[in-house]
Amino acid sequence: MLLLILLLKVQLSIAQSAGTPSFRVVPLGVKGGLDESNLSAYMLAPANSNNYVCLDAGTLRTGIQQAVTNKVFPAHTDEVLKKYIKGYLISHAHLDHLAGLIINSTDDSTKIIYALPNCIEQIQKNYFNWQSWPNFGNTGEGFALKKYAYQSLPVDGAEISIQNTDLQVQAFPLSHGEAYQSAAFLIRNKEEYVLYLGDTGPDAVEKKQNLQNIWQKISPLVKAKKLKAIFIEVSYPDERPDKLLFGHLTPHWLMQEMETLHSFSGKGNLNNLNVIITHIKPAGKDEEKVKAQLKAQNKLKLNLIFPEQGKAFNL
Ligand SMILES: [Zn+2]
Ligand SMILES: [Zn+2]
Repeated sequence: MLLLILLLKVQLSIAQSAGTPSFRVVPLGVKGGLDESNLSAYMLAPANSNNYVCLDAGTLRTGIQQAVTNKVFPAHTDEVLKKYIKGYLISHAHLDHLAGLIINSTDDSTKIIYALPNCIEQIQKNYFNWQSWPNFGNTGEGFALKKYAYQSLPVDGAEISIQNTDLQVQAFPLSHGEAYQSAAFLIRNKEEYVLYLGDTGPDAVEKKQNLQNIWQKISPLVKAKKLKAIFIEVSYPDERPDKLLFGHLTPHWLMQEMETLHSFSGKGNLNNLNVIITHIKPAGKDEEKVKAQLKAQNKLKLNLIFPEQGKAFNL
């Protein structure tokens, strides 16, 4: 009995020395296509808070239901949707990042959609336009139902507050295939950060420096151990030729990008950094392939995390 207590104490002190968590994540959807019940959406809140922002919104209801079944929330599905999610951060207007928001808009509560200006424009023009769907926005085509207020994020990276949460956000443009813009969000809770990237191709294939600029920007946070995690996509396995990437990453290209981050952050500083792999396209055996290829190429010793729908974790 005494031994057991001692063991428990040791375990507890190990857990404490790893630092108290700053963020809680509830993945509502994790895949990069095909399965419409499990598309990119991640609830993120300061640890010990129920005030979440939802990063992309490909799948909402199925993910919340799964989380409720897993006892992640002491609440019903509708309550989580309406009360726990305080706003949405949308990386780009592709349907696999937005379908859950559109379909649930009839039963959602009033809140803010945060995105870069051209993403907001696409939502207004293509979806909430009384043709694809009624206009639940506060501006745009025809009568505005005003369920959602659009908030443009500054393109110069200035930080703004996410209403009704303790979180702040900065946005950065990403290149997601030819002339198509996606976005990354650097989210802050007090002194700690997470970086969430929407769909993106590698700089070398996109012939841009968007990722390099972000790696440069966050490297002081990596050095100071203030960056708790990076959410980044790996859509295809390495067999996919560069000319068919359509603005996405493979394990090889992710590791190339991480090498660039490493070069800015100092030797060894990516050791054990949480890298949450999002958006794997689940065709054939590709999910297993992507995971195996990432693990085989993990020279930097990143802590690779493969999130699962409805399973919460802390950062
Ligand atoms: Zn996309
Ligand atoms: Zn996507």
